Amino acid sequence: AKQAGRSELRCFSQEAGAGTAGPSARELRLRGALERGDLTLRYQPQFEVRGGRIMAAEALLRWTDAELGAVPPDQFIPLAEDSGLIVPIGAWVLEEACRQLARWRAQGWAGRMAVNVSPVQLAQPDLVEQVLGTLARCGLRGEDLELEITERAVLQDAQRASGGLARLRAAGVRIAVDDFGMGHAALLYLLAFPVDVLKIDRRFVQGALDRDHERQVVQALVAFARALNLDMVAEGVETEAQRALMEELGVGLVQGYLLGRPVPAQRLGELLASAQSS
Ligand code: C2E
Ligand code: CA
Ligand code: CA
Ligand code: CA
Repeated sequence: AKQAGRSELRCFSQEAGAGTAGPSARELRLRGALERGDLTLRYQPQFEVRGGRIMAAEALLRWTDAELGAVPPDQFIPLAEDSGLIVPIGAWVLEEACRQLARWRAQGWAGRMAVNVSPVQLAQPDLVEQVLGTLARCGLRGEDLELEITERAVLQDAQRASGGLARLRAAGVRIAVDDFGMGHAALLYLLAFPVDVLKIDRRFVQGALDRDHERQVVQALVAFARALNLDMVAEGVETEAQRALMEELGVGLVQGYLLGRPVPAQRLGELLASAQSS
């Protein structure tokens, strides 16, 4: 299969011509994915660690191509970033997720929508207008939306990014730092960064039960978040023991396969409806 993939690549780059390495087969497919309707969103609930109410949903992108099949986000997101396709794709994700939240709002759910934002999107000068425009079109307030930015992006672009994020935050939009804990040096940068939420990387959440180091990192992050008055989400919670430990350590929200996998909008809508009536 590897061999076939390579000759396919060569074939495409010959078409692109003139000695330049053309876009990969995957990139060519990804270019048409939005128009073909091959991109969809799944929604994963975030629960109160105590009480179990669903407080937010994270929109997670899926790509299913007729020829390539389902390509995992960890593979196509980097491709979309390198090619710039993440800009139109990210705009679509934001619009789609906000439209969905507006529907759930109309059904009486008061939760937030969390949307992942790539560093490439952060560097776009019109991101702020785009986000505010989407919120307005969907009849939502800034407080209804949470943007998830990776810790890596915070470090890479603390200066430029924080200007736009500060404006969004002034409009009530919540800023979450995703995959938190992976780069410890980031703590200092965060002091100067407009942030509302820390999402602890699942490596620490899952390791905290068995290993002192991971537990101490989570403890330190909780203390740090308290001092800065930030909310915390533990991601990748797969077992009741992990959930209970997060509760004991003082983490407010949990997300993970134990309580809810990423599911199509209709399925999460059913969950939200049944949670309200119970
Ligand atoms: P992420 O933002 O850290 O999202 C969490 C990932 O962990 C998701 O993977 C989710 O399905 C998975 N997950 C949730 N609960 C559990 C659990 O209990 N155990 C385990 N093992 N995994 C769990 P997914 O959907 O494959 O997404 C992978 C990454 O792709 C995301 O990581 C995010 O960085 C990126 N991504 C996804 N959608 C978007 C998007 O719309 N825009 C951008 N820029 N990136 C996206
Ligand atoms: Ca995320
Ligand atoms: Ca994450
Ligand atoms: Ca991740």
